[in-house]
Amino acid sequence: MKSTTTPMMEQYLGIKNQYRDALLFYRMGDFYELFFEDAVIASKILEITLTKRGKSNGKDIPMCGVPFHSANNYLPKLIKKGFNVAVCEQTETVEEAKSKLKKGPLKREVVRVISPGTLTEDDLLERTTNNFLGVIYILDDVVCVAWADISTGCFKSKNLINEKIPSKQKQILTNFLLKMSFSEILVSDDMDTSLIEEEWHSLLKKQSPSQFFYESSYDQVCSYYAVSSIEGLGQFSKGEIIAAGVLLSYLKLTQCGKIPLLSTLESETDNKILEIDYFTQKSLEILTNLSGNYEGSLVSCLDETKTAGGSRLLKQRLIEPFYEINQINDRHDLVKWLLENNNIIEFQTYLKNIPDFERSLSRISVNRGTPKDLLLLSDGLVFVEKIFKKLTSNKDFKNKPSLLNLIISNFKIDYSLFLNIKDALKKDLPLSTKEGGFIRDGFDSKLDSLRTLRKNEIEEITNLQKKYIDLTNINSLKIKHNRMLGYHIEVRAMHDQSIRDIDFFIHRQTTAQTSRFTSIELNDLETQILNSFDESIKIEVAIFNQFTNEIIKKGKEILDIAYSISELDIAIMVVNQFYNRNYICPVMLEEKILEIKEGRHPVVEKNIKLKNNSFVSNDCFLKEQDIIWLITGPNMAGKSTYLRQNALIVIMAQAGLFVPAKEAKIGIVDKIFSRVGASDDLAKGQSTFMVEMIETSLILNTSTDRSLVILDEIGRGTATFDGLAIAWSVLDYLHNIIKPRTLFATHYHELTALKENLKNISCHKMSIKEWNNSIIFMHKILDGEADKSYGIHVAKLAGLPLPVTEKATILLEYIKNQEKHKKLKKINEIENLKTYDTKNFFEEFDKISINDVTPMESLNLLHRLKLLRSDND
Ligand code: ADP
Repeated sequence: MKSTTTPMMEQYLGIKNQYRDALLFYRMGDFYELFFEDAVIASKILEITLTKRGKSNGKDIPMCGVPFHSANNYLPKLIKKGFNVAVCEQTETVEEAKSKLKKGPLKREVVRVISPGTLTEDDLLERTTNNFLGVIYILDDVVCVAWADISTGCFKSKNLINEKIPSKQKQILTNFLLKMSFSEILVSDDMDTSLIEEEWHSLLKKQSPSQFFYESSYDQVCSYYAVSSIEGLGQFSKGEIIAAGVLLSYLKLTQCGKIPLLSTLESETDNKILEIDYFTQKSLEILTNLSGNYEGSLVSCLDETKTAGGSRLLKQRLIEPFYEINQINDRHDLVKWLLENNNIIEFQTYLKNIPDFERSLSRISVNRGTPKDLLLLSDGLVFVEKIFKKLTSNKDFKNKPSLLNLIISNFKIDYSLFLNIKDALKKDLPLSTKEGGFIRDGFDSKLDSLRTLRKNEIEEITNLQKKYIDLTNINSLKIKHNRMLGYHIEVRAMHDQSIRDIDFFIHRQTTAQTSRFTSIELNDLETQILNSFDESIKIEVAIFNQFTNEIIKKGKEILDIAYSISELDIAIMVVNQFYNRNYICPVMLEEKILEIKEGRHPVVEKNIKLKNNSFVSNDCFLKEQDIIWLITGPNMAGKSTYLRQNALIVIMAQAGLFVPAKEAKIGIVDKIFSRVGASDDLAKGQSTFMVEMIETSLILNTSTDRSLVILDEIGRGTATFDGLAIAWSVLDYLHNIIKPRTLFATHYHELTALKENLKNISCHKMSIKEWNNSIIFMHKILDGEADKSYGIHVAKLAGLPLPVTEKATILLEYIKNQEKHKKLKKINEIENLKTYDTKNFFEEFDKISINDVTPMESLNLLHRLKLLRSDND
């Protein structure tokens, strides 16, 4: 049977076969066309018409298309849905095909596969956010990861966990994934994906298990960095190397052989940072506020950087602050030096002119750079040279801090290339190199003469026409141009013979009215004119390629400059915050203390200032003998704000920033935990409580004596007695076993009695003034414990009807009288749990049917078991 597939469709199917995982954008003329299933999917997502073209096995072939010049408007929609798009271009011209006497469709090749994790275009990326591609690989129970942002050149790896228990592996992996927010994740096809929460499954791109081999990955990494052994790059585990190798192979595949410029692979395994788990990051509203918006977050409040790179680095610093005192001091020293030595306004003006070096460089390195990228990069680097000169020119600049010396040494490069590029380019630049026209006149003599030739085209033709009129005496002779014949000589038909009589002319065509001729002279001129255009583009492209090659050779140096600019940008931002916001330089210590004098919450303070109110500053003095502060006070008194401000001050300090306080002495912190009790979400009942307990258990299991723990109303998600018991035992455990610096806010006034038993706890309260039967929140923390809950006052403020609050006041009096007698008894009851008879307990324990107990009952059991155990220790 005769095949019904057209040659074009055969070509399409051949290419599609190689890129089955991607939607194939097949270039036909001015359109990218999609066929079959791809067309059905894309037409739905892009909301474009689904048509048909030809038949396959007797059925219509579905088709849809988008104009090639507006493809960038459509691509993000497909990429955001997690699809890869393979872009297939025509890679030969009609002329080339003709010259090869080739039949059938023009040659087409996939020139790039666009995937969510491998974007480089500014309009597809967010300016201040990294776009990470990740690889997860488990080798001998160790979860290994590698990740890269090809738009900025960042490339890292890490052994995440050495943990056999899948549930723990999952918990730690989840935390990591939440923090990294990858755009695309590569895993082996045979990996147990149940370790990865459902939420990320749509981002997973399964790769053949054969890719995950140590030897091939090792070679891949070595060949990328052109080294013979990885040891020269740093210390990596086998799993990290495999993950990094798979990532490089994927880049090679998606970029069709061209791997973008990446910084030297860096292992984060031993790189100690201040660990902030995802829940803490959320609860402290570091990158987004509680509703998930940027506004109101810590980063939105602090970010006054001038460059995109600076903004990205600031974000990273706030979620992964330093742990080493030296690294923190280096940042603080740089700010102090700038404060003492410099007029930063000049620097700021330069910084404003610095483009996104990393992203321009990344586009250039994968052949996607435009003349504009070259100009931006060169312009910006010329400003860097100005900063460099300023930093090194003044002899008074003594005692430069070490980070500044590093920055200066990174800036110390030869800038002549960039001056040369700036000199070569026109001011108004085309969007691509295809049509030429971006190298200025006077830069290249050959280009100039070709351009002159083109300009003189009309003149030369007119001269030739004049010469032929004189030669033939035919005044109506014209030299014309059309698509079929190109340039030709045209005379009226009556002159046909007289022209033919002259050898010089070659006959081309005769019509009813006209005769057309050419001459060798005219042909040569025409070829010259046509060639001059092609030639001039070739020369421009060659100059462009030479520049990009030289830039790529300087890639590592430019990445170092980009990093230094980001550091400087942040430091200058901090200088401004010293002047404009009264932020001060914290003192970092090894001691286990947290001494903050007149601290403020950066975000609440900023909001309050906008309303012309003033923020009430507060102290915090935690030390080994006073390691837990128990804070009581009614709702709305400022407890949460106080708790969070201290955590934020620690984070800012360890991120190398200045802090909102009058004085701050901060003993280095290894992990910060912040949890808010489920009180605000009572409607969700026990499940919320369960979440609260799971989160609390993470704190109790992973915090150390160097950590800072912030607990706000823990235990409120359950009945009073359970909640109190849990809050009490958590405090007890923190105080006696782990001993981290702890701030604990609670409305359980009973807990304040604990200070009698636990020697390193002290009680504090948010002060309140009663006035005219109403209360005023002073937002000031004082020593001692709050004696009333003021709940009814708050209820009044919230607008509860008067009869309701009046009745509540009477009831409260009644309950209080009863409670007074019970209060101490209650604490004793809890204490008595400790002496719970072991025998009785296990008799009861044996009767339990596992399938029938509720989560709450099992938690209580666990609690009792723990108490029994500590009692028997
Ligand atoms: P609580 O946790 O005790 O219920 P919050 O910390 O949520 O109270 O504070 C309630 C409100 O009081 C905040 O929204 C803030 O506007 C204001 N506030 C809190 N602390 C201060 C302060 N130190 N100075 C000024 N206003 C404050």
